[in-house]
Formats: sequence, structure tokens, C-alpha cells
Amino acid sequence: MRDGLGELSLEFRPGAADGQRMLWFDFFPVFLGPFVGSFLFAAAVRYPQMTGFVTGRSMCPSCRAQIAIRDLLPVFGWLLLGGRCRVCATPIGWQYPAVELAATAIALWAVAEFSGWLLWVSCALGWVLMALSIIDWRCSRLPDALTLPLLLLGLAVAAVNWPTELADHVFGAVVGYSGLAAIAWAYRRLRGFDGLGLGDAKLLAAGGAWLSWQAAHGTAGRIERK
Ligand SMILES: [Zn+2]
Repeated sequence: MRDGLGELSLEFRPGAADGQRMLWFDFFPVFLGPFVGSFLFAAAVRYPQMTGFVTGRSMCPSCRAQIAIRDLLPVFGWLLLGGRCRVCATPIGWQYPAVELAATAIALWAVAEFSGWLLWVSCALGWVLMALSIIDWRCSRLPDALTLPLLLLGLAVAAVNWPTELADHVFGAVVGYSGLAAIAWAYRRLRGFDGLGLGDAKLLAAGGAWLSWQAAHGTAGRIERK
């Protein structure tokens, strides 16, 4: 192949159908990964207060100095600063570069398995689960704003990719939700207070939507490569 894009293509194409070659834009999520990680961690940290959520520039939590553009570069910005604020030298947590690397690893994993639109929804799934983990770890919440779109995306992927098995995925969401919701209800009846949030039930519902109810019977991981 000697056309323009073919020149740029690489032989490595694990996620592609046979006979296709990997193009540079198939790796795009990997280049995007560090920036997505940086954004998601900043959003997750701000989640409880919702101050300057999404739009606000990053600032040092100690001296409130705005982070310079050159220091915002994922991982390298943190390394060049030696893990400290340029203005007040307060240590900046290792969690920042760690989450940026984790988001990149999620993208690499997705690239190794999928291409095309399935690559992007796989990245979205991994990145949203990562954001949920951070928020749950920091403030023990699983916001509906993340779990419910994840559930809908799982059902949409099933509808497009496995239309004949859509009912299994809807049932998976119902089983996932009602199982944990029943335990939460029983706990509240027995102990008189909430022991389990319904955020967990919604997350399990999203898991059921992606994997279908058969995942509980050990037949998960049957996603076909496209
Ligand atoms: Zn500072």
C-alpha cells in the first residue's frame, strides 16, 4: 500500500480484523490517555465541592497559584517540578501522574483488543470506571451522573454489537441492580440504617448491561473482535 495513509501505517495491528493494517489514528486514544487521566483526576478531586468544575484552571491546593500551562503536561509536568508546586513547593501527590499513567494503560489495553468504534467505547468504559474508583475512594460516592450513562452505553453497545442478545444485557442490568438493592433493603430493615448505597447497585446494573446476566455464570469475556 503506497497511498498517503498507508505510508504512515504500522504493521502492528492486534485489534484489527485480518488483512488490515494499523493506522496512526488507531493509537490516538493512547496519546489522549494522559490528558484524559489528568482531566478526570482534577474533576474527581473537585467533585465534592464542584468548585470550578470542568472549566476552572488547575490551581495549587495550598497557595491557590494557577498551574502554568507548561506544568500541566501529564506526567512530565509533575516530574519536571519534582512533584512540588513551583510557587510554594508544597508536594503535589503522586496520584496525579499515577492516574495519568493508568488512563494511558487503559487506552493501550483497549487498542490491543479493539479498533474502530469499539475501541472508543472500551476506552470510555475504562476511563469512567477509573473516575468512579477515584470518587468512591475519596468520598465514598458513586455519582448517578457517571453510573447511569455507563449503564445506557452498555445497553447501546449490546444493541449494536449483539442485537439478538440485547434481552440478556437488559436482564443483566436488572439482576445487577435488584440483587444489591435487595441486600440494601434487607440491611435497612434489620439494622434501621443504610449500610449500602444504591450507587453500588447502579454500578452493578451497568456491569450487567455490559456483560449480560450470563457473566454471573462465567461466560463473560466473549466479546467478539471487530
Ligand atoms: Zn503552591
